[in-house]
Amino acid sequence: MLSHTQPTVLWTLRPSSPPAVVRTCPRCDDARPFDSSGRFRLNANKRRLDAWLIYRCRHCEATWNLPIVERVPLARLSAADLRAFESSCPERARRIAFDVGVLKPHGTLQSDASTTLDKPAAHPVNTFDLVLANPLGVAWRLDRVLATGLGIRRADLPGLWRCGALEVHLPRPERALRRPVADGTRCTFRPSAVFHQKE
Ligand SMILES: [Zn+2]
Repeated sequence: MLSHTQPTVLWTLRPSSPPAVVRTCPRCDDARPFDSSGRFRLNANKRRLDAWLIYRCRHCEATWNLPIVERVPLARLSAADLRAFESSCPERARRIAFDVGVLKPHGTLQSDASTTLDKPAAHPVNTFDLVLANPLGVAWRLDRVLATGLGIRRADLPGLWRCGALEVHLPRPERALRRPVADGTRCTFRPSAVFHQKE
């Protein structure tokens, strides 16, 4: 069971490139990954501005525009924002393309690129809860995340499981281990159980 008295440790999966947004492509007539083109599109109408980041279907190149600002009075937009949109500033485009809050309402996020697992340099020696953050939808299996984070082989995970050192708080943990890790997955790790097993 989760306890509020033990420490919580956060691991975060961070892809090196922005995630694709998976949504229905009208031309393919199917769910497809859309990738950021890094270009903005602007439209000014009666001193109000719309700005989008242009995405392309990976299969047919059809475009989809991710809304960034909608009907915003020009006077309310900072000069820096306007310059960034007009020049398709790569840094700004990249920041938006990584912004979960902006992307999430428009589809499922999917990251295929190389990924690093951000975690603390050291872990508590006593029992701790582990929260796995995967906000950008990296398609790593749960067993890969755990093995990478704990610095062990995937084949050693069932042993941790059997001795009670690792508990995954999901309905069917054996199956969950082989599935892509969901954002916010919680586990409990009991390092002391590993030492008892080795003795
Ligand atoms: Zn398409």
